[in-house]
Parts: sequence; structure tokens; C-alpha cells
Amino acid sequence: MQLSLPFAFPRFFPIFHLSPPGARTRPRVAVWGLALWLASVGNLPLWQRIDGLGGTPTQRLALIVGLGLLLVGALAALLSLLAWPRVLRPAASALLLVAAFNTHFMWQYGVVIDPTMLANVVHTDVREVRDLLSWALPGTVLLVAGLPLWALWRRPLALRSLGPQAVRNLTGALAALALLVAAALMSYQGLASLMRNHKDLRYMANPLNTVYAGARLAVDQLPRQVRPLQPVGQDAALGASYAHQPRPPLLVLVIGETARAQNFGLNGYARNTTPMLARWQAQGDLVNFAQVSSCGTNTQVSLPCIFSPLTRAQGGDKTPEHENLLDVLQRAGLAVLWIDNQAGCKGVCDRVPNAYAGDHAVPGLCEGSECYDAAMLDGLDQRLAALDPQRRARGVVVVMHQMGSHGPAYAKRAPADQKPFQPECQSVTLSECPHEQLVSAYDNSIAYTDHFLGQTLQWLKARADRGSEDTGLIYVSDHGESLGENGLYLHGVPYALAPTQQTQVPMVSWFSPGLQRRTGLSMGCLRGHAAAPISHDHVFHSVLGLMDVQTRAYQPALDALMPCSAASQARSPGEPPVALVHTG
Ligand SMILES: [Zn+2]
Repeated sequence: MQLSLPFAFPRFFPIFHLSPPGARTRPRVAVWGLALWLASVGNLPLWQRIDGLGGTPTQRLALIVGLGLLLVGALAALLSLLAWPRVLRPAASALLLVAAFNTHFMWQYGVVIDPTMLANVVHTDVREVRDLLSWALPGTVLLVAGLPLWALWRRPLALRSLGPQAVRNLTGALAALALLVAAALMSYQGLASLMRNHKDLRYMANPLNTVYAGARLAVDQLPRQVRPLQPVGQDAALGASYAHQPRPPLLVLVIGETARAQNFGLNGYARNTTPMLARWQAQGDLVNFAQVSSCGTNTQVSLPCIFSPLTRAQGGDKTPEHENLLDVLQRAGLAVLWIDNQAGCKGVCDRVPNAYAGDHAVPGLCEGSECYDAAMLDGLDQRLAALDPQRRARGVVVVMHQMGSHGPAYAKRAPADQKPFQPECQSVTLSECPHEQLVSAYDNSIAYTDHFLGQTLQWLKARADRGSEDTGLIYVSDHGESLGENGLYLHGVPYALAPTQQTQVPMVSWFSPGLQRRTGLSMGCLRGHAAAPISHDHVFHSVLGLMDVQTRAYQPALDALMPCSAASQARSPGEPPVALVHTG
């Protein structure tokens, strides 16, 4: 006998209806009660968002009811299929907690949950998670998951043996699907135009967004992880410049974190967040690239993409199936070193020597395993000296992976005496801080990156001046950040929907006079080209060109330095570039 919902509801939430001891909750009551709860309370940010979209109150109510019934159907179908002994309660609890955590992050930071956001969460580390936690979290978890968790666990479920339960689960799922289809048909027109105009809403449906993203990740990544990477640049060799140059080249590639172009002093930001770089720029050898697009809106996508031989359009933003820039440099015979001051290199540095800045805590720069970026410069001479001497004699590429402006704890990114912009927001609950204080905390982290890059340039110049190498630096950030514009915080919005604050990143280059002579690079020419739009797609080829690594994987058209190098004159014009990968 099937209970109708108005009667089922009080039985599921026993605060309304005290039942005798030893009683069991009927699974169907639990399934539909949970589906109702998740669709309503578990999706408060979604309903608030739709309520704020405009239209008449009747239109909004119709949308909320239509979408709400659709969600109830989908959730009841999912839960019906999970209604097995020892499965339903843990699975339902997980869904409740996921909905609660999602609600917290949607409220706090305006994020939505899509596969790349989930991948970022999966690959994050304890320190990053710690920065995201705040006192609002337990409150939201209690609100969204507290009551149903208590109701779910206070007494056992009356689940049956395999055969009869399978029949019940199947009929339950079919009934739920019927509700879903009916709701979809009933409000098709309104829902279709809503989804077309507000694509991010589909990533707001809790906890189905996470179930979907998890399934997508599993399908995308599992088969790839067992497949070996496809080799890239197997023909890589050092070019003719190595034969007649007295000194080896040394390039430092700094990968920034969460720095956005808009707040970078060199890009004309109202605040001078880059005084050191401005000084180097005035001396003539530092060039600022003003229009650089990132490959992704989070580290998990952007970091491998920067080093990928594939452009974003070719699939550089997907899980890597190819070797990367560092493999090609190493294969050509150069020494490569990755120094990390963040949550790891996302597989990019797996096959080259690498070190973690926090492994040797530097007094004054590290606290526990967490360090300011300048700690990466500590002992760098010794780290270089420890590299393979034969490779080092040919040339070196060092990657420094910054902590940069990693949020939301911007205030933790710079020491107290290096914060020019005051007062600054100290909270990780960003919406609690006045907007100016939040921006000040962020700008202080950019100013600290400026300080760190200035120190790195000083170190490179000193090595060039004493004649040990021809040195150079390229700095580029992995993605930008939202600081409350349009109610968005942090980053990770699906790329197609992302605001420019998340996709436009700062980038600079500096080359010692020796490296300029060696590569025939004209700084005047480069300054003239630096306002042209480029992207992360250009890093792979620009570094190969700069380091004079000869390989069919190199595409001059994607070398941002190419138009200003001697090689652009030397290369025979009739020879078309060879495309590395043809994507089908
Ligand atoms: Zn990042």
C-alpha cells in the first residue's frame, strides 16, 4: 500500500510524529522524504538565484515549482535505485552532506559545481581546504543536512530481501521518472528558455551537479590514467646557437597563481601593485604582455595546459594524454628543475627533478610547511649546482610554481611588513569584508608577487653579470580571480561563462643582454608586439624558440617572441610549420 506524501512527510520527520520504539522507517517514505528535502532546502541557492532573475512573481513561482518537481523526480529515482540494505543510509547521508557543502560554497563564493570545479576539489590539498573553511560552514551543514540525517539514522529502514526489494526499487524509480517527465513537459517552455539563457543554473542543482561531475570525471580520467602518455618532440635537439656560445642559457619560468591582469600595475591599474617590475621595465629589458588569456579558470586545467603541446582548441584543457614542454626540454639535453610552493605540479613535473619549497623550512619565510614565495629563492644556487653537470653545462630551465594570490586567504600571502594597501580583509568569508578591504588584501598579494619577481630578477641579473649564464625570465599567471564582481568570488567558473577577471592574466618577460644577443631578440620590437592578444597556447612554443630547441613539435606561429628574434629572419620562408597533432 503506497502512502501519499502528505501522510508520509510527518512519518519521515519524527519531530512531528512520535513512533513506538522498535519501529522501522519505510524505505519509500525515506526516499521521497529525502528527495523532497534535497530538492527544497538542499537547493536554496538555486531558488534564490531564480527568484532574483526577474519576471513576474507568477512566472518565477511557475519556474521554481516546475524545476522543483523535476528535481524531486530525479532525486527520488536516484535514491530508489540506491535503496538497498547497508547502502541507502550511507549513500543518502553522503548526498545530504554534498548538498550542504555545495550550498555553503555557493553562498560564500558564488561558485557552481561543474566537472572541472570538482576535479579541482579532488586534487586540492589540506592547506588549501583549511583556507576555505569558516564558521559559516558548520551552520550551513546543520541547516541543510542536520534534521534529515537525524531522521534517517534514528531508526532502521524496513528494507527487504533482494528480490522483493529490487521490484520495489524499480517501481519506485519508474514512478519518480514519470514525475520527472511530467514536470518537464508541464513547464518545458519556461525551463528551456531559462536553461538557455542561464547556463550556469544546471551546475547549481544540488547534489545532482556533483553526482554528474563525479561520473564525468570517472569516465574521462580513469581510462586515460592507465594509458601511457604519447611522446612529444622525439626529434628534439639543441640548435646551432649552442655550438658557438660561451655561456649556457638559464631561463626561469614563474607560474603565477590566481593573479588577474586587471589588478596588475603594469597593465595600468589605478594602484601601483608592481613597483619593482615597473623599475625593471624602465631599464628597458622587461616587457609586459598586456592581453593574455588563460587556458582554464582553475589550476587543475591551466597548469597542464600551459605546458601542453596542444592549444586549448586542440584539447590542451583536457586531461593530458601527451608529454609536455618539460619532457621536450629534457629530451633535447637541457637540465630542468621544478620548484613548487603550492599544491603540487598536477603531473607536469613527474619526469623531471622537482623540489617542494616547504621541505626545508626557511626561517622567517616559512611557517610549518607553508612558505612565502620568496622561500623558493632560498638555496637556489645549491639546487642548481646539484643538477646533472652535463645537462647544466648545456643550459637550464627552472620552473617556480607560486602560491601567488591563492584565495580566499589573500592576507596570508604576504608578510605583515609587506602590505602597502590598508586596511585589508583578514577573513576567508569574503562577502563579510567591505569590498575595498577585500581588494586591498588581494592587491597586497599581487604586490608581494612583484617583490618576489623583483628578487628573482636580481638573482638572474647577478648570474648574468658575473658571466655564469645568459639569463631570462618569463612570468605568467595560471588564471584570474573574481573579487565580488557580479556576486562571484574566487575562480573556477566554467570557461564559456567565465568573466574576464578569471581568464585575463598578467605576463612579463625579461632577458639579459647576453640572452638577447644569443637569440637575436630585439626588445624594441618585442615592446611593439606586446599588446597583441596571446594566450597560454603560446608558452610551449615561445620557450622552445627562446631555448633554441629544434623539433617538429615547435610551431613558429605560436611563438610570441618569434616576430622579434633573429630566427624569424634566418628561417626559410617557404617552409610551412608541421602541425604536431591532428585532432579528429
Ligand atoms: Zn590556480
